[in-house]
Amino acid sequence: MVWAVLVAAGRGERLGGDRPKAFVRLGELPLLAEPLRRLDESEWIDSVVVVAPPEWEEPAILLAEEVGASKVTACVTGGATRTDSVRAGVAEVPEEAAVILVHDAARPLLPPEVVPRLLDALAAGFDGAVPALPLRDTVKLVADGAVVETPARDELVTVQTPQAFVAPVFRAALEQAGTSRLQATDCASLVEAAGGRVAVVEGDERLLKVTTPADLERVASWL
Ligand code: C5P
Repeated sequence: MVWAVLVAAGRGERLGGDRPKAFVRLGELPLLAEPLRRLDESEWIDSVVVVAPPEWEEPAILLAEEVGASKVTACVTGGATRTDSVRAGVAEVPEEAAVILVHDAARPLLPPEVVPRLLDALAAGFDGAVPALPLRDTVKLVADGAVVETPARDELVTVQTPQAFVAPVFRAALEQAGTSRLQATDCASLVEAAGGRVAVVEGDERLLKVTTPADLERVASWL
């Protein structure tokens, strides 16, 4: 059983506007409609938990109903950080789930072929899998306005969501992160910190994360 946790509880301050990012308009509907529909349509996913901003739980449920996302089994309130929101969503996933897949609502255009790539990596024995893209720019490690180091670009990737994990490994990593108060910008780093092996699979440009109004326009042009 594959359970998806769709985290949509961010405030989206860089986007401006009077509502959380998940509820800004993308095409005809709130942005959240798109990842809800796409997760629901994935033949690889059995159930979906939505993590909504405080006071937006009901609109999230109504939206799931509107788009016919019948795999949505729970909608919970998110936390102050992404990791807290992920934890709230995972708490709704039953023990018998084999795989937990975490996806950012802020990446609305999930192409159907990404999920099986992740699941193949888990079937091959990895604890987790992330979609990644090669870097276009050179990255530098800096401190106090000076370059400390320039890592080799061909050894670096940027990672996206959805990220998939063997469920018990992910639960243990979340627990360990709670004890050590680790706050991470993605879920894989929690599993890495717990000693897990995470595979890198091919990502997709269309998984662009909506952060600014320009990103929103770009994603809307791909609808
Ligand atoms: O803030 P960031 O861009 O990393 O957010 C990525 C995803 O995590 C978004 O879909 C956002 O809604 C979600 N998030 C959340 N709870 C938070 C912060 C972010 O669910 N407290």
